[in-house]
Amino acid sequence: MQFKDVIGHDTLKKQFIQEVNDDHISHAQLFLGKTGYGSLSLALAFVQYIFCENKESHDSCGTCASCRKISALQHPDVHFSFPTVQAISKLSDEQFPEWKKLVEEEPNFSLNDWISYSDPKGRKPILSVHQSQEIIKKLSLKSFEGNYKVSIIWMAEEMNQGCANKLLKIIEEPPAKTLFILIAENQEVILPTILSRTQLVKVKPISDQEMEKYLVNKGIQDDELKKSIVARSEGNARLAKELASGEKANNQNRTDFIQLMRICYKKEVLPMLDWAEKMGNYGREDQKNFLLYALYMIRQSLMKNYTEEQLMRASAEEVTFLQRFSRFITNNNVQDFTQLFNDAHYYVERNAHAKLLFTNITFEVMRYIHRA
Ligand SMILES: [Zn+2]
Repeated sequence: MQFKDVIGHDTLKKQFIQEVNDDHISHAQLFLGKTGYGSLSLALAFVQYIFCENKESHDSCGTCASCRKISALQHPDVHFSFPTVQAISKLSDEQFPEWKKLVEEEPNFSLNDWISYSDPKGRKPILSVHQSQEIIKKLSLKSFEGNYKVSIIWMAEEMNQGCANKLLKIIEEPPAKTLFILIAENQEVILPTILSRTQLVKVKPISDQEMEKYLVNKGIQDDELKKSIVARSEGNARLAKELASGEKANNQNRTDFIQLMRICYKKEVLPMLDWAEKMGNYGREDQKNFLLYALYMIRQSLMKNYTEEQLMRASAEEVTFLQRFSRFITNNNVQDFTQLFNDAHYYVERNAHAKLLFTNITFEVMRYIHRA
């Protein structure tokens, strides 16, 4: 992770670079702020900058051996601890492959993401005395590459008293060239003994301006949509990313659905085959999403026919489309439509031949839509 990959936080980035260049790195830092603001990304970029063999004035090089090891979360001198469900594993190391997988997907994930990913029973994970022993053991070894040894402790507020007590001494008087980065969301629940021994680094919400830039990079051009995502995400990059990809998928589904209904209504056979071909090339998840969206639009159409109230859940574009389309969904065909898309969803899940399946959909839709 390079600084350029971390959204916003220009002031903190400058501060970290300064610390490294002045060779004045505080040995225990507490990054405080919601995980979605990017604290783990910042920590990874900071550590990568420390280790980089060809540092530039504003960022690590991203290509030297150290950069590559840190990016891959495989540097022998950079250790990670995070809460675990003690019944599953008392050590972070044993669950590291799973935790790493989440980091690779989205480094700004939350404790809840981790819980639902790592424990089907959803039990509360903690950092226990076993994990502090694990940390102390690793840091007491000589560093592999003769540079810093780093311990990143994610969601440090989940430390229990035993864990914290065991760590106090080493945090206060660490071996030379040791760096602790504690990442936490909630200052109130961090044990005061830990708080008083660390330098506080406040990780604030990502500014609206930075978030807008990020959304443009993600391909969100529409001004209204951008504003709406910025407002709803409240400085949380993870949430913004989720909203953005949801909106993009929804736009695509809407376009595909409107196209399907239009060409089937006009009985345009060649465009129908083209449409089926296109849908057949989508990934399975996208195909399933489309079919769920089609079911949703059929339900919305029916509702529109029976209630003249504003459709609460439909977007402005959908409402415009439904104004004209809903009269084609009636008691004469709603069950057929519902069954068609439901069955298709079932078959896609079981690896049906997608092009045949979507071709069949177009011909059935053509029949049903003229039965209204
Ligand atoms: Zn480098």
